Amino acid sequence: LGLSGHRFIREHFTAEAISRQYYRLIQRAVVKNADLYNAIARDEFELYYQPIVNLGNGRINTIEAVVRWHHPQRGLLHPEDFLPAAEDTALIIPLGWWVLDQACQQLAAWQQQFPEQNCRISINLSTQQFLHPDLLTRLDQALATHQLRGADLVLELKDNTVMVDTSATTGLFMQLQDRGIQICIDGIGTHYASLSFLHRFPVSSLKIDARTINRLDIDAKLAEWLKSLIVMTHDLHIDLVAMGIETAFQHRRTREMGMTYGQGYGFAKPGPAATVTRLLDHSNPFSFLLEPLPSSSAMTHAEDAPLVLVVDDDRSLRKLLTIAVMQAGYRTIEAANGSEA
Ligand code: MG
Repeated sequence: LGLSGHRFIREHFTAEAISRQYYRLIQRAVVKNADLYNAIARDEFELYYQPIVNLGNGRINTIEAVVRWHHPQRGLLHPEDFLPAAEDTALIIPLGWWVLDQACQQLAAWQQQFPEQNCRISINLSTQQFLHPDLLTRLDQALATHQLRGADLVLELKDNTVMVDTSATTGLFMQLQDRGIQICIDGIGTHYASLSFLHRFPVSSLKIDARTINRLDIDAKLAEWLKSLIVMTHDLHIDLVAMGIETAFQHRRTREMGMTYGQGYGFAKPGPAATVTRLLDHSNPFSFLLEPLPSSSAMTHAEDAPLVLVVDDDRSLRKLLTIAVMQAGYRTIEAANGSEA
């Protein structure tokens, strides 16, 4: 580049120019850290809770804790908005311990208030937290502090987390099993080339992702895949949780297929602890599930009914439309936008 290249190097690659750029980069990283770091100190995080429901009897079996951040400038943030940054900066560790403690504290309060409900708490662990040397100590501490049993706690892991270091995972799973703590693999879908980890590790449940559940009606291959997964997991005593249940049809379908639990807006969306307290206070909030299933001839009719695609980006509007269309005797599937449709 001749002279202009020479000038560029002179302007940008002097010790002073480089240190200025470094300083800017570091400042940006530190600000991000400080923001997140202060958020714990300033009590800006809150746990939301979403029930996981027994599809057979409508009872709340487990309550999943999910973290929200009340950001002073940006408002309510969902995990996908800040967990990647927290993972980059290792602040996921203190945040993760905070979640563990808060969730256990909340479960202890619910158990005291509703001893007959007998439900468990489920928390999501990042890979860093799962493989952290303090994990077992922290779990023991949280259980002891809040007087909970290991069986009260479910840890949700991504499948790639358990495959990062399979020998460490094997050891950890044994230690968790000794404590009665259960492991759930979160967000399973057909993109999984292999479910070989099911035979390697004592997993107690699998969550089938919402996308898969949503496409059951229109994708026969997907339904076949799920049927074979149900047979396999049944033999291994692994429960299946259907995520993203929004419609009565999805509920009926997953229940008929033999899935045990369900989670989704059809039951309840994630909300502050008080919303779940109200559900627990109601002896059987999802009792509509107990209505007898239609006879098989009626079901055949339902499966033959014309299929209507309901498209709307507003979830509640979509739900209302779906209900109206279903009441008119049609089957429905839903999409949230044009490309999905
Ligand atoms: Mg989860």
